[in-house]
Amino acid sequence: LLQLTRKLIEIRSVLLSVDQSEALQLPSIVVIGSQSSGKSSVLEAIVGHEFLPKGDNMVTRRPIELTLINTPSNAASSSSTPSEYGVFPNMPGMGKITSFATIQKTLTDLNLSVPPELAVSDDPIHLQIHSPHVPDLTLIDLPGYIQISSMDQPEELKDKINGLCDKYIREPNIILAVCAADVDLANSPALRASRRVDPLGTRTIGVVTKMDLVKPEQGATIVRGERYPLHLGYVGVVCKAPPTSGVFRSIRGDKEKPNVTGAVLRREEEFFGGENSKYFGRDKKVMVGTDTLRRRLMDVLETSMASSLNGITNAVQIELEEASYQFKVQYNDRRITSESYMAETIDALKARFKEYTAQFTKPAVRSKLKGMLDDKVMDILEKLYWDDPRTLELAKLGEDRKLTPEELDTYWKYKLETASSLLTKSGVGRDSTGLVAEGLRQLIDSIATGEPFTFHPSVSERITEFSHAILRERMGLTADQVENCIKPYKYEVEMDDREWEVGRDRAEEKFGEEIKRCDNKLNEIRGKLGGARKLNGLIKHVAELEKWEVERRKRRLSGGLNATSNSEDEGQVEEGAPVLDAYKYSPAQIIDGRHALLLSNRLNLLKVRQQALKSRRCKTGPDQSAFCPEAFLTVVADKLAYTSTMFINIELLEQFFYQFPREIDSRILYDLNRDEIGKFARENPKIKQHLDLQERKDKLEQVMRSLQGLVNLQKDSKGSLATG
Ligand code: GDP
Repeated sequence: LLQLTRKLIEIRSVLLSVDQSEALQLPSIVVIGSQSSGKSSVLEAIVGHEFLPKGDNMVTRRPIELTLINTPSNAASSSSTPSEYGVFPNMPGMGKITSFATIQKTLTDLNLSVPPELAVSDDPIHLQIHSPHVPDLTLIDLPGYIQISSMDQPEELKDKINGLCDKYIREPNIILAVCAADVDLANSPALRASRRVDPLGTRTIGVVTKMDLVKPEQGATIVRGERYPLHLGYVGVVCKAPPTSGVFRSIRGDKEKPNVTGAVLRREEEFFGGENSKYFGRDKKVMVGTDTLRRRLMDVLETSMASSLNGITNAVQIELEEASYQFKVQYNDRRITSESYMAETIDALKARFKEYTAQFTKPAVRSKLKGMLDDKVMDILEKLYWDDPRTLELAKLGEDRKLTPEELDTYWKYKLETASSLLTKSGVGRDSTGLVAEGLRQLIDSIATGEPFTFHPSVSERITEFSHAILRERMGLTADQVENCIKPYKYEVEMDDREWEVGRDRAEEKFGEEIKRCDNKLNEIRGKLGGARKLNGLIKHVAELEKWEVERRKRRLSGGLNATSNSEDEGQVEEGAPVLDAYKYSPAQIIDGRHALLLSNRLNLLKVRQQALKSRRCKTGPDQSAFCPEAFLTVVADKLAYTSTMFINIELLEQFFYQFPREIDSRILYDLNRDEIGKFARENPKIKQHLDLQERKDKLEQVMRSLQGLVNLQKDSKGSLATG
């Protein structure tokens, strides 16, 4: 014997992982029979354990592709692996299962997972059993044929099961037709189905179960198969006594069941031996007993495998050539691994990060912070100065040479102090740190959501998660540090003439920008109204309106009771109201007008202040701060930005730039195991395709080598047979 079956079963497993259709070209034994014919009992007797799903309702709903692998018992005892175990190749997480009760439970669950409306599914369950007590065989258990349709097993289901069985009993498979001895063979659906696809019975073995239920001479007649001859013959068996009682069923649970082989053999010995050996003895040329069945199956499968060898070798050769060609054309034979893809991805991620961090140089950060603080300055100026009507006097004061700084109105000095304090105490530490951290966050998020991380949502999430964690951790610390370092400015800000000049220049520039902004807005309204003349008219009207409103409010406040009775009736124009142009403007235009009035007042004031900033007084130096709060605050903002940048750089940026690449390594590269890396790589469809094709080619090559070896072996043995 060449042990072809064993080797081809290995090949079949490999092929199965490449492509189901090719694997099916290697012959397998397909077990068919009607419900309760004793199909499960036969399979369990072959395996030696009770492991198939049991139940009143039809429990086999999916084909079970059972691969039996004979493991020499001495090899098993010398190693730590168990001698007998099952493996579900499609559920690698379950590992080697030594408890046949667990296998039974798993098979039951897998069968019950078929939705009831489908009833049967052609998606096979794969199960391997390794044991020193099993022969090398591949067996496929199929749902039992339904003979009589009933309420819960309708005609439709019957057709479905027939269809499923038909798919499996094709060539080159061997059909194991299970029939019970106590049922007329003429009524056996298994034999009927077999005859349809294998009329000469060249690849069908009949198994006659329940031989103990008929008279021995009757049983012997059936097994001789004279009525319905099969080339491969019939084997008679007695697999199981009927269940003793219902109690047995209920206490089953997960308890390990004893090995069934011994019991079956004893029962068969009892039945076929002794008195009955005159019907079943060796000289009677009938095949009986599970042991005979096993040997018969091995022989038949081996022969069938041998005749399939050339066919499958040719088929695999063609597939391999196609795969190799595709690999050459699509990938120029470039090999990749999940690990290499992972490493490349991480390298690219770090490189992109490094490239982006160039945006965070000190000058860049300082200019960002300056921008933010300048805005704060403008807000403070607006609140404290621009809304204060006395600000227009401030310019005149500045021009008044007779007043020394000491003689200046304490009002303005006090105002400047307030303004400076508003700026330094506005939460600069928090805001500036927040601004930079937000910049970093956006940067990381844009990397983490860009290619190729669009394919890797969970890794992308990890990146954002740990980068946010670093930022969160550093932010509080940095903000405190910055706040601490700008503390002196909260009490006093010293500046020299050069700093003053820079600040004054910048303030002037900012005012220029602000003036332009106001101008633009005013132009917009002018455009909407259709000309400068119209705008001026509207502004004049609104100004009058507002003046009148102010006066009315005053009157009302002093008018007391009178005011309530004088309440406006709709449509009625109050005395003294500027009625003349009242119908010239729509309500929307009035709103625009109010806005325009504000803008033109603001523009006026800004221009006055811009002029003041250019004045000789302001140019004198920091001792003129009270006249030029704009310049003073700009210098303060500058100092704040400088100090903040320094500490943000040390506490936040440098730390982040150091930690981030290291976290990438420890949280992704080293944290993922082989399986996870494989899964990661396959999330990218391009990589998946590449890996799949490469794997297919590799496996086909491996299979091809094994097949070639077997073909040569077969040739040699034929040659030696011929010469010997
Ligand atoms: P399946 O539905 O075709 O899988 O059939 P089972 O293996 O579940 O057997 C159906 C019934 O027949 C069960 O009650 C078994 O105990 C009983 N049975 C199976 N084989 C034999 C046998 O050889 N002799 C006797 N007397 N009963 C058997």
